[in-house]
Amino acid sequence: MSDPSDRSPARSVTSQVVGVLGGGQLGRMLALAGIPLGFRFRFLEPNPEPSVRDLGEVVQGSYDDPAALESFGAGLDVATYEFENVPADALRRLEPRVPVFPPPGILALTQDRLSEKEGFDRLGIPTTSYRPVDVRSDLERGLDELGVPAILKTRRFGYDGKGQILIRDRAEADSAWSRIGGPPLLLEGFVRFRRELSLIAARGRDGTTVMYPLVENRHEEGILVLSRAPAQNVSPAFQGEAEALALRLLEDQSYVGVLALELFDTEDGLLANEVAPRVHNSGHWTQNGAKICQFENHLRAISGLPLGSAAAEGFSGMVNLLGKLPDRAGVLALSGTHLHLYGKSPRPGRKLGHINVRGSSPGELESRLGSLLEVLGEK
Ligand code: AMP
Repeated sequence: MSDPSDRSPARSVTSQVVGVLGGGQLGRMLALAGIPLGFRFRFLEPNPEPSVRDLGEVVQGSYDDPAALESFGAGLDVATYEFENVPADALRRLEPRVPVFPPPGILALTQDRLSEKEGFDRLGIPTTSYRPVDVRSDLERGLDELGVPAILKTRRFGYDGKGQILIRDRAEADSAWSRIGGPPLLLEGFVRFRRELSLIAARGRDGTTVMYPLVENRHEEGILVLSRAPAQNVSPAFQGEAEALALRLLEDQSYVGVLALELFDTEDGLLANEVAPRVHNSGHWTQNGAKICQFENHLRAISGLPLGSAAAEGFSGMVNLLGKLPDRAGVLALSGTHLHLYGKSPRPGRKLGHINVRGSSPGELESRLGSLLEVLGEK
């Protein structure tokens, strides 16, 4: 018979409590990676049925409610966020009581597309051409200067392709202006990229960094549908160029945690599209295809533990499950596939989960991806 004391509540070796602002799938996957390492989790989340509901304590409240922030912050060892539209002020309010990583300054910088672009310029990170648009005449001037096609974007609260309209010719300017919902806006020159890449990087409290191999991403209507990692046809020098760009950001911001830099690979070299100061959808493959995944490395970074290797193991693909749940038995019958569901109910276009696929060669990966897409009915 087992010793009954084995069943008494575990006294954690580290007993570090991590607070996460946001309780969506990224928070869920942070907890799934962190619980085996001895972390406990508390989430601040307005939604009453969040993805993280079974994985820690949930303080239900809005991010700018002082009372909710108060009970969320009490007794935490470290706080982080999994949602980039958390108000930077909420983080600043927590800071006197608990270390907050990534540093709130980067959130303020990246929440506004204009300050994000200006940040790239200041650090010498090549980016798309852009013009701020505050009044209707700015749009005309911007189109004169950047030409068409161009993309009109809201400066704040854009994600997954929301808050942006492609202007194919000048005649579409009026309708774009009236549809987008008002300034402040940003007009961007349209980039004819060869492919979209992203770099996931982690920096620890002591300044050490690890970088994952570049990922190739396919978006449809602004939403990530498929990633492949390591991206093919990437020389060590090219990987080094991307890493050098990410390093400038990490060091400038005294960054701690995982960051994703989205890049366009163009004939004229790499252009930064945007930065996400958090674990990222294009890094989900690391759960089954890297030595240490992005979620664990984020937790290691923010809690001052040594970072783990970001090296890839084999060749990975990641397919997002958007809007409808898959045939679970069909997916699990395939070799090399790993299903990750987020505990969310289906709604058109909603991210409900993802599937990581691994092969021992690019050819095996492609054949496994092909079988998976067939099961998902996408082929
Ligand atoms: P974003 O929300 O800015 O990351 O944009 C979502 C997606 O829209 C990107 O991943 C690209 O596929 C596309 N996109 C955004 N900006 C541009 C641009 N300036 N030129 C071409 N495509 C773009």
